[in-house]
Amino acid sequence: MAYRDEIALLGSDLEEGENQYTSCPACGKPKFSVKREDGRILYRCFRNSCSLHGGGALQANGRRVLMERPRPRKQRIAPYQGALRELTEEEEQFLREKIGWRQWHLLLARPRYAEEQERFAFPIYSPMGRRRGWVLRSYLGREPKAKTRMDVEEPHLSWYTGGRSSSVLVVEDIPSAVRAARYVDAVAINGTGCGPDYINEIAAHKRNVIWALDNDATGQAIELDRRWGLLFDSSRVLMLDEDFKNMSEPALRTKLEEI
Ligand SMILES: [Zn+2]
Repeated sequence: MAYRDEIALLGSDLEEGENQYTSCPACGKPKFSVKREDGRILYRCFRNSCSLHGGGALQANGRRVLMERPRPRKQRIAPYQGALRELTEEEEQFLREKIGWRQWHLLLARPRYAEEQERFAFPIYSPMGRRRGWVLRSYLGREPKAKTRMDVEEPHLSWYTGGRSSSVLVVEDIPSAVRAARYVDAVAINGTGCGPDYINEIAAHKRNVIWALDNDATGQAIELDRRWGLLFDSSRVLMLDEDFKNMSEPALRTKLEEI
């Protein structure tokens, strides 16, 4: 059977507006999305290397391809080239008061200071712990508060994981992820947006996901859970009264011991 016929069959089970994740007809991974919308069947595989990754659309009768979505255009990468230096004692003290980072957190995150920018530079780490970019964060009221500069074209997720479990806590920013990482594996999405490539990376490394965005973004966490939950063995939202980075250590420990 041609992929097109298989996709048409998958789509024929769906009601208008319904979305389904299932095994990909091309690569076999359970990362294939089929959706019925405006009488058409939209499909896409979230596996980067799959021939159906670019996705496309079929008419509901499955016979004619109306459009092939082009592969997303490569984003231009502008790695940060400025000088970075070790933090001074005052800067370490500032982070201790601002985001509760002690020696343990500094050793894990290894922040630097970007003098010309007057910003703290927090490395972005791949799932294997390789540095792949920076978040340049201003605490002097400069806009934007945080700039992300990748060295390579990869998701700007920053991982803090000892490979301790199959679960990961997804949080909004690096300060919160590093605080949480003392107790659980954590990943910072550096913003509240979390597209297919990001989800793909998370799903490739962890089977259980707990969405714990800042307390003003609980709606966004619920949306992520609803949208992507089926790609994981389990997916749930952890409600927060306060951001991890602002919690006292005992409060944080209590919160994370619950999960
Ligand atoms: Zn595929």
